[in-house]
Amino acid sequence: MKILDGKKLSQKIKEQIKAEVEDLKQHHGITPGLAVILVGDDPASHTYVKMKAKACKEVGFYSIVHEMPDDISQEKIEDTIKMMNKNPNIDGILVQLPLPPHIDTTRILELIDPAKDVDGFHPYNFGRLMQGLETFAPCTPLGVMELLKEYSINPQGLDVCVVGASNIVGKPMAALLLNANATVDICHIYTKDLQSHTKRADMVVVGVGKPSLITADMVKDGVIIIDIGINRLDDGRLVGDVDFEEVSKKASYITPVPGGVGPMTIAMLLQNTLKAAKKRITD
Ligand code: NAD
Repeated sequence: MKILDGKKLSQKIKEQIKAEVEDLKQHHGITPGLAVILVGDDPASHTYVKMKAKACKEVGFYSIVHEMPDDISQEKIEDTIKMMNKNPNIDGILVQLPLPPHIDTTRILELIDPAKDVDGFHPYNFGRLMQGLETFAPCTPLGVMELLKEYSINPQGLDVCVVGASNIVGKPMAALLLNANATVDICHIYTKDLQSHTKRADMVVVGVGKPSLITADMVKDGVIIIDIGINRLDDGRLVGDVDFEEVSKKASYITPVPGGVGPMTIAMLLQNTLKAAKKRITD
């Protein structure tokens, strides 16, 4: 069994990005800029935004966080996005989800200029992803693809079971794997017999948010396991959706939680923002 080390790879990617940013600054006078919109006081959202801002600083990006109270109006958020869309120093705009229930999230995400949509949540970019066209792919599934590439795991021809079908994780994950010529099976809460799907898969990619959803009896020997889930247990431990201890005995490759997909997500956010900033050279 081999560990797919996302912490190590994300560090390597960040070093490469840092070097490219220095070059961009020196030769083109461009400093990549990321704007983050953070609404309310959800502790997890605040932690994620802090991590993203820290990563931006590490690689030399300009970043700004627009913090807004929980009772902010739809209009005020929209005005901020319109302002960021026009700001030439901002290459990427990210709205930290979830937004409060009174906010129309779809409208907010659709207002982001697709050229600055570094999270890849705009339907325009998602449509391009489905068609296998050049686009901004969502960071978490993109990070999984980078991790597979680093360990020379080619999805072509593999039977892959994606468990979880959200717009930000499961669906784009399935699209990226399909584009890489895997045979993709997508399971979700209404799937009748989850085990019958996971058991026959060469690779299981799970992003649900339920500790120990995937147990050793549900997978075949030699399976490749990608665990996207992040769950905080009562004792404070952070775990994924896979029973790591038992499943790792059967797996050929497996991502740990923490230290697997999580750090790759932030690295891909930086990568997407750099990609957006580079467009300034040709524009
Ligand atoms: P979500 O709640 O939007 O979607 C969950 C999906 O799981 C849904 O499609 C649902 O149908 C499916 N599901 C629920 N119960 C199931 C079951 N018993 N069997 C099969 N499918 C089931 O969640 P999300 O935003 O997609 O996040 C999923 C997980 O991934 C969470 O743990 C989240 O914290 C984690 N996540 C991690 C990263 C990262 O960087 N590693 C990024 C985003 C999300």
